[in-house]
Amino acid sequence: MRETFLPFSPPAIGDEERAEVMDTLRSDWITTGPKTKAFEAKLRDYFGAPAVVGLNSCTAGLHVGLLALGVGPGDEVLVPSMTFCATANVVEHVGAKPVLVDVCPDTLNLDPEAAARAITPRTRAILPVHYAGHPVDLDALFALAERHGLQVMEDAAHAISARYRGALVGSRSNLAAFSFYATKNITTSEGGCLTGDPELVERARVFGHHGMNRDAWKRFDRSGSWYYEVVLPGFKYNMTDIQAALGLHQLDRLEAFQRRRREVVAAYGARLGRLGCLELPVERPEVESSWHLYVLRLRPDQLRIDRGAVIEELKARQIGTSVHYLPVHMHPYYREKYGYQPGDCPVAADAFGRMLSLPLHPGLTDRDVADVCGALEDILHANRA
Ligand SMILES: *Cc1c(COP(=O)(O)O)cnc(C)c1O
Repeated sequence: MRETFLPFSPPAIGDEERAEVMDTLRSDWITTGPKTKAFEAKLRDYFGAPAVVGLNSCTAGLHVGLLALGVGPGDEVLVPSMTFCATANVVEHVGAKPVLVDVCPDTLNLDPEAAARAITPRTRAILPVHYAGHPVDLDALFALAERHGLQVMEDAAHAISARYRGALVGSRSNLAAFSFYATKNITTSEGGCLTGDPELVERARVFGHHGMNRDAWKRFDRSGSWYYEVVLPGFKYNMTDIQAALGLHQLDRLEAFQRRRREVVAAYGARLGRLGCLELPVERPEVESSWHLYVLRLRPDQLRIDRGAVIEELKARQIGTSVHYLPVHMHPYYREKYGYQPGDCPVAADAFGRMLSLPLHPGLTDRDVADVCGALEDILHANRA
């Protein structure tokens, strides 16, 4: 057995990141300033996006994105139930109603047919999530949106580097929000960005900076002026130069990170595919997943052990895992406010009951991967039905 615990998703911070953060701390500007501008420009180049704003989280991006789209009280927004709570919480923040929709059995992404059935005269927007980094069926969702005059904003927290029919997620003109949280494919510790049409992104930037029509850097820079006006009551969501210092180098390393993630995914698939009692994650032919998560589902009919016990047994063998996610319609707030039953999103509820996420990050060695597979083989062989 391993001598040390294998953490589920540690950050991969290098010397370049550390040096850039120190450079920022030694400079005269530690909050939104030149490094944030440089990171935004670098992200824009990377995505091929019309515009990008750096923010202090993806949640902030989703919030100001909805505000920029004018979504508010009386509106309904379609949200997949299989997601992190933030995707639905932001809809509550703007006073609209998140309508929780079931997911496809293979990808656990928003099911376009279930979304079509959930549309009412109040529906204003669709907020799909690229779950685990696998792009959602954007063609089907945009066709649906066009038919009903809806906005589409993507929760792309998992999806930096993911491609749909060859195009990078984040390269389109609709809004897409990315996360640079500590566990995501690249990190600024906390942080995020919003990509999309320049006018929408500028409106979102103003919502994220007190509703000021100029940002602090422009005000205090020699070329700027002290004058600003508040045009709406905004929020305080700006990215700092300390965060951007990390991001500049994380983005440089993204390609190498993704190469390693794919190697790990291939190694897991080759070995775990032989165990009949597991359902492995898929990659549809028209997409390239960013492989943020490696989500397994147990086949309960073939096992005498449940998901919770498998997680405990893995922990006893020094392997860290996690579960993504308890579906939003099963959280007490949403269950009680809207009266959801687990069976309202049956695919999400069923997947939740038998899923677990294995470690997947660029720091994994071949030995680590073999340890994870060996531990799972051990546990599952001993508990076959
Ligand atoms: C991480 C995550 C978020 C929130 O990202 P933050 O940067 O932590 O705000 C939103 N949606 C999904 C699906 C996530 O996984």
